[in-house]
Amino acid sequence: MPKVMIHPAGYDNVRQAVDRAFELFPVEVTGRKVLIKPNVLRASEAKEGIVTHPAVLRSVVEKVEGMDPSSLVVGDNPGIFSYGANEESFKKTGLMEAAKGYYQNIGNDSQKVDFNPEYMPMVSLSRAVLEADIIISLPKFKTHGLTVMTGAIKNSYGLLPGAQKAQLHKAAGNPERFHEVVVEVFRLRVPDLFIVDAVVGMEGNGPASPDLLDIGLIMASDDAMAMDAVIAKMMGLEPGRLRFLQKAKEIGLGDYDLDKIEIIGELKTLSHFKLPPLGGEIISENKVIQEMMHSRTLLLPQADAELCTACCTCVDQCPVSALSMNGDTPLVDAESCITCFCCQEICPEKAITLK
Ligand code: SF4
Ligand code: SF4
Repeated sequence: MPKVMIHPAGYDNVRQAVDRAFELFPVEVTGRKVLIKPNVLRASEAKEGIVTHPAVLRSVVEKVEGMDPSSLVVGDNPGIFSYGANEESFKKTGLMEAAKGYYQNIGNDSQKVDFNPEYMPMVSLSRAVLEADIIISLPKFKTHGLTVMTGAIKNSYGLLPGAQKAQLHKAAGNPERFHEVVVEVFRLRVPDLFIVDAVVGMEGNGPASPDLLDIGLIMASDDAMAMDAVIAKMMGLEPGRLRFLQKAKEIGLGDYDLDKIEIIGELKTLSHFKLPPLGGEIISENKVIQEMMHSRTLLLPQADAELCTACCTCVDQCPVSALSMNGDTPLVDAESCITCFCCQEICPEKAITLK
């Protein structure tokens, strides 16, 4: 039976929870190549809660260091388009220091691998991922406008180098297919251990929302579906209504049935947890909304003129050139927009919301 650890923790005592995670989910690290992958969405301050907190990364690095791996790499492919240099993102968040010299730009070296031709025949994957014997994934407990939540499965989307992420967003073409693409990427190389930073989580219009929530937990599992089912439950969602979990079950990656998951700790739904404006759970159930989403007219990014600094980052990085500057703010072309929400993720001013 898959197990999920739910362990009380603060950023000043993460190590205790990390030690417990390694006791419950032993991984053969000694003499092997280890890759640790935090969630580094983009350059931001650690206190913004957009990335895995440096205290969590440092604890895991120190734990693995002490187990004598043959090599250790800490890396991620920040941002959908590698917006902001990797080094810059790691430095600004404090993750570079926490990586203790093991940081590597894993986006610099990639290799083509077979993918599901329904979306794309081949994709690039960071070579560090292909060469690792052990991958330890460090997701952040967050909401996500497109997949409702990010957790164990969605964290693996960062195993793709930046431009590849954008191409797949485009190939998916609509939110429901994007849920499926996320799972296809995850299955390319399923990580061996997941340690989730839920000390401070994110609710509302994630994955770069200003709404943070003190949860006070570190969670862990060696089973991504069990992990995400528990996160979904904590957010007040029915795991079986999330399209990416449905898809993962369909292709035999596990089960989201909470009755078949052993909880080590206390599983509580967070009261009044704020979900993104329109979640994938609704997409997968409601045919009318589904059709509207597919027609790409329901949710569109909109920039807040008060917050926008006219930096043009969103315009430059939209994978289908659906944005253009209209005076000092970007304007979306509803016909071209594929609702990938990348502009929302990368806007450094958090000026874009989905309307
Ligand atoms: S919405 Fe954000 S990314 Fe786009 S131009 Fe304004 S500040 Fe820059
Ligand atoms: S406008 Fe934003 S949501 Fe629409 S396709 Fe471009 S980046 Fe994606």
